[in-house]
Amino acid sequence: MLTMKDIIRDGHPTLREKAQELSFPLSNEDKETLKAMREFLINSQDDDIANKYGLRSGVGLAAPQINVSKRMIAVYLPDDGNGKSYDYMLVNPKVMSYSVQEAYLPTGEGCLSVDESIPGLVHRHNRVTIKAQDIEGNDIKLRLKGYPAIVFQHEIDHLNGVMFYDHIDEANPLTPHNDAVEV
Ligand SMILES: [Zn+2]
Repeated sequence: MLTMKDIIRDGHPTLREKAQELSFPLSNEDKETLKAMREFLINSQDDDIANKYGLRSGVGLAAPQINVSKRMIAVYLPDDGNGKSYDYMLVNPKVMSYSVQEAYLPTGEGCLSVDESIPGLVHRHNRVTIKAQDIEGNDIKLRLKGYPAIVFQHEIDHLNGVMFYDHIDEANPLTPHNDAVEV
């Protein structure tokens, strides 16, 4: 199983690389990696397991965060606050379209690869349509809004070498943009 030892931290060069597109069928190794990423998220949200292994709780993980520079992400979000759950292992995810309207979390964002908390609002698209493949290569299309949209955008950023704090406006870190929705 993956633990915090497997997660590379801010400053590691892999986090700044553009990750590789995958072709199908995936190798067994890549499949196992993606399944282990999902398993990590589930474990991290289980108090007993998280305490036992010292896991920080997370809802999303991108392969570059375990030093695998490939375009794979896992999202495990049992409750988005609106009674919807998200449990996805995505390969080659891509934002196909997005709203002009932005959204942000009032407390900013965190990341399993960033140990300290970095204050500042991260503005993202409030609505996104994402296309990807599942682990077997079937096409998946997701329409997301609000919190889940933020989570998927955060993870897809990792595939492009982008960290959440890159989006924070240094001059006005805590000022919401006009018309942006607080999530
Ligand atoms: Zn992250």
